[in-house]
Parts: sequence; C-alpha cells; structure tokens
Amino acid sequence: MSIHKTEALVLKTMPFRSSSLIVTFFTPQLGKVRGVVKGVHREGEIRQAGFELFTHAEYIFYEKKRSDLHLISDASILESHHALRDRLDGIAYASYFCELVDELTEVQDPHPKIFDLLKESFHFLPVIPPPRIETVFVTQLLREMGWLPFLESCLECGAKPIEKGFFSIRHGALICERCRPKDTAALPVSSAALAVLRAYSKEAMEDCLRTSHSALIEDQVKTLITTFLNYRLGKLLKTRQFLDSIRAVLKGP
Ligand SMILES: [Zn+2]
Repeated sequence: MSIHKTEALVLKTMPFRSSSLIVTFFTPQLGKVRGVVKGVHREGEIRQAGFELFTHAEYIFYEKKRSDLHLISDASILESHHALRDRLDGIAYASYFCELVDELTEVQDPHPKIFDLLKESFHFLPVIPPPRIETVFVTQLLREMGWLPFLESCLECGAKPIEKGFFSIRHGALICERCRPKDTAALPVSSAALAVLRAYSKEAMEDCLRTSHSALIEDQVKTLITTFLNYRLGKLLKTRQFLDSIRAVLKGP
C-alpha cells in the first residue's frame, strides 16, 4: 500500500455500511480517485465536513494495489465551498459539473487542467450567472477531453476562413453553406456565435467570463455546445435533468 497526500475536490459521496462513506474526488495529478472513509458518523460532523460535496481539501489516502477503492484517512479543508451548497442554483450547477467530470474521466487518469477548470468554476458560481459559466465550462471540458469541435474550416471541402455556416453535431465540426446538403441536421451558426465559441475554446475561463455577449448569442452558443455534448455522452445525466427541472424556479418571476 502506498500513501498519497494530495489536494482534491469532492465530486460525489455515498453512504457505505453503517458509519462509512465512499468518496469520489478529483485531484490535479492523479485524476479521479475513489476511496472509503471509515467512521465518519461516529466522530461527528467535523470529520464529515472534509468530505462534503464540492469541498476543496488536502487528503491523505492509502492506495490499494488490487482495487481502485482506496482508504482515505484524513482531510484538511482548504475551501469548504459552503456558498455553493447553500443555494439551489449553486448545488444544481456544481453537481452538474461534478457529474460531467465523473462521467467523462477514468479513474486515475490525470487531467490537471480539468482540476483547475472545476476549481475556477466553483469560485465563479456564487458571483457570475451560472448559465454563462456552464457554457464556458462545457466547452473547455470538451477541449481537455480532446472532443473540441473543429471550427477552423469546412470539414467537407476545407473552405476557409469560415465566418458562419452550420454546425454538424454528428461530426463535431463546421460545414459551409455549399456542403450543408451532406448533413441536413447541422445547426445554423451565426458569425457572432462562432466567434464566441472560438474564444471559449481558446481563452482562459476568467477572460471568457469578463466579456459579456447578448442573451441571443449566449443562447445560441449554449444550444450548440450542449447539443453536441449530449450527443457525445449518448445520455442525459441525472444532474442535467435536475437542472432542467428547476430552471423555471431559478429564473424567478
Ligand atoms: Zn464546404
């Protein structure tokens, strides 16, 4: 058994036997890690605090060689992120981001940039409208997974520069007006939406969030990237369904 000390963000927790928890967390250098925390309930709330959803903490865990379920022994909190858990939109969006990361990454496959992306999103969620963060988060998560849509030229004929056209969900790429008959399901994309999508796929999250765009453009970009993500996932995540079900409540009167 080797021992690790690492910072991480809690993606998921699940009660295990009478007094234990199974925790899935995301680390910068080891990627996603799953482990058991024993005796959380016996020792009261203070011990459990380090293992609440979205917590950023430094963890000590013992790596088991024959299982991917390790033994987590200790947590010292760096940021509790209680502001996320105190609000419905914070819980809904942060849970969605966590499930996406959990769904798309494999156990112990390092993605330091995904760790940074999740950490930054948690900082921005309480202060910037979450739907804007979602679009940037999803685009950049796709980039880190190597799934970023191809946006430089027409996939079919290579025409470029291409400033507006159609987005083929099936191919994850742009096609020009002339090649549209090759994928009639491709969604139209305006030049403004394309410019935003290109910026989101290249720039740092902070820079993307600094510039605001019209609601129409934001919606177009979100529709494209969400449709593409759902197509790649092949299913609708539970947290996504929850988010959609409470959207009317979140928008307010
Ligand atoms: Zn073309």
